[in-house]
Amino acid sequence: MDQFEYNANPGRVIFGHGTLQKLPAELERLNLSAPLLLSTPEQVGQAEGLKNDVLQGKVAGLFSEATMHTPTHVTDRAVEYAKSRSADCVVSIGGGSTIGLGKAISIRTGMPHICIPTTYAGSEMTPILGETADGAKTTRSDPKILPGTVIYDVDLTMTLPVGMSAVSGVNAIAHAVEALYARNTNPIINLLAEEGTRALATSLPELVRDPSSRSARSSALYGAWLCGTCLGSVGMSLHHKLCHVLGGSFGLPHAETHTAVLPHAVAYNAPRIPEAMARLAGALPGSEGDAVKGLNVLLESLGVKRALKDFGMREEDVDRAADIAVSNPYWNPREVEREPIRELIRRVWAGEPAR
Ligand code: NAD
Repeated sequence: MDQFEYNANPGRVIFGHGTLQKLPAELERLNLSAPLLLSTPEQVGQAEGLKNDVLQGKVAGLFSEATMHTPTHVTDRAVEYAKSRSADCVVSIGGGSTIGLGKAISIRTGMPHICIPTTYAGSEMTPILGETADGAKTTRSDPKILPGTVIYDVDLTMTLPVGMSAVSGVNAIAHAVEALYARNTNPIINLLAEEGTRALATSLPELVRDPSSRSARSSALYGAWLCGTCLGSVGMSLHHKLCHVLGGSFGLPHAETHTAVLPHAVAYNAPRIPEAMARLAGALPGSEGDAVKGLNVLLESLGVKRALKDFGMREEDVDRAADIAVSNPYWNPREVEREPIRELIRRVWAGEPAR
């Protein structure tokens, strides 16, 4: 076996149905008594339920202004509010946007952060924080950003709309896919990547057919956890770079963009990563040994949109996106060249199949 380094991320995970009820015991275990709850305006009902039904009103406060891209002016307001209420920890209940706010408050104040994820984006498993100030997004990584406890409660994901569930699940698969060929990958992460991909690729089509399936929801959340661990452990390459550019510079939606780009990024790298492609194909039902085919089959079965033009990207933006993508690229197993990258982006823009 080749040499490798493996860093297990610290952190405690509680997984299951109804696990939200374990939050009071977790707070007690950590000797915390004044949590500041965080949510988006859309999920304030879930946060209110947590406050009233689970914590019997014993909270420092509820801040429900979490929003996409973690703007620093929102974080500043939340930090002021936390101080004014003498909070001793933050509890984020929501997707990547709410968890981002929890991370931003925690790194500024040193307060412990307990995460209760309700999508499959995976941020809860990473020491990474992206923030926006004056329209510019910056990303940093620090072990102190990693939340200390994560409570996965499948029941909370039952309300995630089916379309969002599908693209959020593929967003998670993308983390595992790029972990398989990361420069610093290792055998342990490969195992998690394959298992996470398999769990999501089998449960997502079932979930789309029957959004109320508790077993499909459970398997999807389990897969998302493993894929999030991949994202938090090893470096990401071309796929994440392209999505960062398309989301950051053209305002395209996060999980939808990941979904449309993934088969194309994999097809671009395929000639240089035969071992990763074989592993990925093995985790994708219907691949018949071809990982790109397996991804196409999966996306077809989910009925998701695959053309970036359907999300408002203009054809004239293809060239600019290619320029940004090739300037300052992430490490990638295949050289990142302007013309083939432009053609890749054009195909995703048009919604043509990956090949
Ligand atoms: P999101 O958090 O923006 O949520 C989208 C919408 O769905 C929100 O209105 C939210 O309230 C709602 N929602 C979430 N869960 C729900 C549920 N169970 N039921 C009903 N509604 C629900 O979406 P996301 O895709 O989870 O997160 C995307 C953001 O997270 C992006 O900004 C991305 O950059 C960031 N992210 C960061 C990391 C990291 O490691 N730092 C990793 C992944 C994603």
